[in-house]
Amino acid sequence: MKIAVAGTGYVGLVTGVCLASKGHDVTCVDIDKDKVEIMQKGVSPIYEPGLSELMTESLAHLTFTTDYQGAYRDAEVIFIGVGTPEKQDGSANLSYVYKVAKQIAESVERDCVVVVKSTVPIGTNDKIEAYIHDKQKNDVKIYVASNPEFLSQGTAVKDTLHASRIVIGVEDKVPGEILKNVYDGFEAPKLVVKRRSAEMIKYASNDFLALKISYVNEIANLCEIVGADIEEVTDGMGYDARIGNKFLSSGIGYGGSCFPKDTKALNWLANFNDNEIRTIRAAIEVNENQKFKLIKKAKKYYDDFLFLNVAVLGCTFKPGTDDLREAASLVNVPLLMEDGAHVRVWDPVGMENFKKHFPEKIQYCKTIEEAITGADLCLILTEWDEVKQFDVQKYEELMNKAIVLDGRNCYTLDQMKNTKVIYDSIGRSAVN
Ligand code: NAD
Repeated sequence: MKIAVAGTGYVGLVTGVCLASKGHDVTCVDIDKDKVEIMQKGVSPIYEPGLSELMTESLAHLTFTTDYQGAYRDAEVIFIGVGTPEKQDGSANLSYVYKVAKQIAESVERDCVVVVKSTVPIGTNDKIEAYIHDKQKNDVKIYVASNPEFLSQGTAVKDTLHASRIVIGVEDKVPGEILKNVYDGFEAPKLVVKRRSAEMIKYASNDFLALKISYVNEIANLCEIVGADIEEVTDGMGYDARIGNKFLSSGIGYGGSCFPKDTKALNWLANFNDNEIRTIRAAIEVNENQKFKLIKKAKKYYDDFLFLNVAVLGCTFKPGTDDLREAASLVNVPLLMEDGAHVRVWDPVGMENFKKHFPEKIQYCKTIEEAITGADLCLILTEWDEVKQFDVQKYEELMNKAIVLDGRNCYTLDQMKNTKVIYDSIGRSAVN
């Protein structure tokens, strides 16, 4: 089919490339000229495992452009995958989505389905449909369908090609059938539901996961106080099929472009409708506090950070991505710097983006060894494999004072007991 995708971020580009890999002719549109130029050379502007390779394989079916009119004019299906960031009051900023909706309304010259993949509050698809119908220039039939995205950054290609489910929210039979055809080559359960249900499935799913993380983090915090071990506790919980063993890792809280904004958006939506969603509000509050957990722990070892050399391992919000949105590093590093610390950062793919936030005063290190050599303190913020596989003896050998505060529980306590490293992690007793 002839498909257009608006937005070539983590969702749009992965969607476009995966659809092209199944033989659809896909035109990916973005307003960012630099990004488009990079993609026109066959290069992915974002880091996502497997994406570059699949993009190279599928180039015959891919076009990258800023010319939205040309792309939307005769597309059978147009996906909207632009951002819906958080506004100051917690609600979702829909201006990018509406901008695309306007561009579509002014461009299309044939019947088509507009598919909203961006995460949007319940009821938005109805409004987009009315908006497009009001603004459309040509007398063609434009359907609007909701098709929320569930991919995780770091595993986005795999998640798209082998989705847990494909949710298709429609009010008419026709767009439902067209979308089933689009996804014909994808092996995944396809759920056709009401548009508002589709929008809610996305928020309810994301917010449940955020809730799960905040719940485990609160249990971890209590474990530290009462002398239990969170790793043993979550292992024991995970055997219960009703709970499941996924998403039970404790740490310094969730980040990224989705959980923080999607929890706040649902909370906002509930309040706007004179309703309360107390569990989600609690998840948000717990997560805000959890981000400061390592800094609070550091105060056990140092009164202040003046002139301390502090190594920060990992600056992305999770491993497998170069994305820094709502990453713990963006909260912790400024606190260290304001207090006079010399900060060295190591991350395998996130440092270029981190430099945009902190172009000065930070030492960027090529290796973990370089970051920790002579350091008085080490904070682990992202559980990269390189960190998990790092020889822990080296902390003892290379650091000035071997104090490792691990916000992601990368090591077992037994590993650390064989060293002289002071190791303080989340939900477990400190070692040494
Ligand atoms: P992103 O910020 O990475 O990318 C958005 C892209 O849209 C940018 O490249 C931007 O230049 C482009 N854009 C803006 N206006 C445009 C326009 N008028 N025409 C064409 N392109 C335009 O965003 P993302 O992380 O891919 O998220 C997109 C949506 O998907 C959001 O609603 C998000 O909540 C949702 N989502 C994201 C994830 C994720 O893991 N990132 C997962 C599921 C759902």
